[in-house]
Amino acid sequence: MTATTANHVTIEREFNPMEAQSARFDLAAQKLNLDEGLWKVLRYSNREITVHIPVAMDNGKLEVFTGFRVQHSIARGPSKGGIRYAPDVTLDEVRALAAWMTWKCAVVNIPFGGAKGGVICDPHKMSMGELERMTRRYTAELFEFIGPEKDVPAPDVNTNEQIMAWMMDTYSMHMRQTVTAVVTGKPINIGGSRGRREATGRGIMIVCDEAIKKLGMSMASTRVIVQGFGNVGSNAALLMAEAGYKIIGILEVDGGLYNTNGIDVKKLSEHRQKNRTITGFAGAEKVDPAELLLTECDILIPAATENQITSRNADRVKCKILAEGANGPTTASADEILADKGVFVIPDILCNAGGVTTSYFEWVQDRQGYFWKESVVNEQLETIMVSAFEDVVRYAETHHVNNRIAAYMLAIDRVAYTIRQRGIYA
Ligand code: GLU
Repeated sequence: MTATTANHVTIEREFNPMEAQSARFDLAAQKLNLDEGLWKVLRYSNREITVHIPVAMDNGKLEVFTGFRVQHSIARGPSKGGIRYAPDVTLDEVRALAAWMTWKCAVVNIPFGGAKGGVICDPHKMSMGELERMTRRYTAELFEFIGPEKDVPAPDVNTNEQIMAWMMDTYSMHMRQTVTAVVTGKPINIGGSRGRREATGRGIMIVCDEAIKKLGMSMASTRVIVQGFGNVGSNAALLMAEAGYKIIGILEVDGGLYNTNGIDVKKLSEHRQKNRTITGFAGAEKVDPAELLLTECDILIPAATENQITSRNADRVKCKILAEGANGPTTASADEILADKGVFVIPDILCNAGGVTTSYFEWVQDRQGYFWKESVVNEQLETIMVSAFEDVVRYAETHHVNNRIAAYMLAIDRVAYTIRQRGIYA
């Protein structure tokens, strides 16, 4: 093997989310002295489903899409996790994301296991009709594997309330009754929860509030850069700007915006709504997104996709706090580099858990048939996020590990304890 191919293989491994997940899992399990048998149980997914989804396209042709649903664990309750639509979805990615959901639900201590779904497609090139037919057929193919007591999907990258509405309707048609609790992240009118849309962003703000308090920083002088202006990034930026943080940079795939005096995020959001892009916004300087990611700030929030902070750029990251809004934005090889630099990492399985926590509230409300005021949702979310943050930080300090490994250890310990208590069915 030549040096270039060897390097390529190393990078490919580093960029495989399953590697990122397993490397941290193994380290945490080792530090916990986890029983070898349980180690094996938790290293593999409970169930991995692949479906081929025929869809009648608008041009009259038939297309077949490949979709996955991986249920990593149901030990602590029904498996829970989003569904993403993207051209580069892989089974390994969905596997990793499913395991992350198990750890995430355990970190915030809600009664769910973990799952994830994905369909290989390019939703931006599909019409609403094609998306609806694909979503409905995918849901029908998964019919016996999902349900309020089994596995509860939600939105993720490139999926939204409308897609959840179609999933809920398809499942309900098969059941011959309306079953709102089969998915979360639905429109409020059909059993969605108030506050769910902003929940991941709000959760990020709550843990950032806790982190700056802990590090003795003041909100007004805290400069924030956000990568990604989708549901997670835009809501985090909007809420944090409103609270008094200074949002100095926002970057998307097609451009970066920078303003040392702070970007008017509300105006930017209106601009994006109108123009479907953040570029061309008058209230900030246009900069190269790759450079903006490495620009000096106090809090960096990667809220886009995986593999943004890697062995290639981690040494050039210039933030005090890394708040992981996305799932898996940092590769395992970057962890040590960030630790050496003294960056305070709020790991994804804690940082972005506000979404699934409010999904839990949605599921509870659907099952009760009683819907809460938004203030109640937000209060409950804050209570859970603050105590999860405290649990992780305390665990890190007591066990002399970084925040990420602390979060994994805490989560693995909780799941392993449940499995031990339930025993293994033979
Ligand atoms: N897709 C989100 C996540 O990665 C939300 C999952 C959910 O609400 O079930 O956490």
